[in-house]
Amino acid sequence: MSTAPGTWLITGARPLGGDPADILIRDGVIDSIGGGPAPAGAQVVDAAGLIALPGLVDLHTHLREPGREDAETVETGTRAAALGGFTAVHAMANTDPVADTAGVVEQIWRLGRQAGHCDVHPVGAVTVGLAGTRLAELGAMAESAARVRVFSDDGRCVSDAVLMRRALEYVKAFDGVVAQHAQEPRLTQGAQLNEGEMSGRLGLTGWPAVAEEAVIARDCLLTAHVGSALHVCHVSTAGSVEIIRWAKSKGWRVTAEVTPHHLLLTDSLAAGYDPVYKVNPPLRTAADVAALREGLADGTIDCVATDHAPHPVEDKETEWDTAAFGMTGLETALRVVQEAMVDTGLLDWAGVADRMARRPARIGRLPGPDRALGAGLPASLTLYDASARDTVDPRAHASRSRNSPFGGMELPGRVVATFLRGTPTVLDGKLA
Ligand SMILES: [Zn+2]
Repeated sequence: MSTAPGTWLITGARPLGGDPADILIRDGVIDSIGGGPAPAGAQVVDAAGLIALPGLVDLHTHLREPGREDAETVETGTRAAALGGFTAVHAMANTDPVADTAGVVEQIWRLGRQAGHCDVHPVGAVTVGLAGTRLAELGAMAESAARVRVFSDDGRCVSDAVLMRRALEYVKAFDGVVAQHAQEPRLTQGAQLNEGEMSGRLGLTGWPAVAEEAVIARDCLLTAHVGSALHVCHVSTAGSVEIIRWAKSKGWRVTAEVTPHHLLLTDSLAAGYDPVYKVNPPLRTAADVAALREGLADGTIDCVATDHAPHPVEDKETEWDTAAFGMTGLETALRVVQEAMVDTGLLDWAGVADRMARRPARIGRLPGPDRALGAGLPASLTLYDASARDTVDPRAHASRSRNSPFGGMELPGRVVATFLRGTPTVLDGKLA
């Protein structure tokens, strides 16, 4: 990157949406938050009225490299992340080859360091080749330079209860966590869309809520049984929120995420058979959206995770039945959260910082102090203009893919700048 860490004075920003203050950054660290004249040689960023948040952390990103560089690369995906206000992403394991060995996770980790736009933390596969038959070398991945702590077969469910139990037992040795894509495979064979009125009307095979809820309930019980830690990926139904609320009330180590698209969109969008709305788990009903928002607001759902799933045009712009599942999300996540959670009064900016930075960093076992804004802490932060508003244009995105369900939609907000340990990765809304 062109810009070296140095001394930066960010003037007039509102930390966590509070009173304006000047943020002085020196040598990658927040030196002070307050006021006072600019020190000699400081580069000044006028941030009057902008919200300052700790750098966002995504627990669930598909960077597609190695194997599907036509959809995304570590370079393009981390550019998209930085432009979305993220300073760390977890790269899912369903690459080709699958990230199921120390060698592959170290390769992805190194590509992330070379790109330099944000930290890349590889997720390790739970089973060899995501095949769901044999445990991968979880210990070797944990001990590798990539220091893997989150393990997931995401894209597929670890549906075998014995394997899931073994994985949960295994990760205890290094305080790891198993992140489950909860989808009972037999109940979702050929599934295309949320099972309900809309799937019936469109004649598409339904993906019933119970196929998600049954696996979450089982995994909560298994986690309690072996005393381990479970993370539930992309929670999408009201029933799932209830089950997780119950598991947490028992004191079990269960955490959960929700995607921006499940906080804003419903299955009614599928009415025109546009596969840009095809995603797994599927968009659900307005009642589910309301329950997910409530769950995120009350902390039952710990965090927002994008499930950024880029696909090339030929895999997405086709018949609904044959189109790939998935949506991009890194560059719109914070804006969607503002629309769904902040502008509705459900969450304040401190709450956004908690759900998009502090908690996902904890769940991902990221080293270092808590993600926060304070003197002495690493200067990884995002400056955000909550008063901006424009129409989303996926063609302008840094992601190599264009499959954003928010294209053409008017959303609030604009990420103005992102700093990664004192080095700007984004300035004035553009890559630094
Ligand atoms: Zn998934």
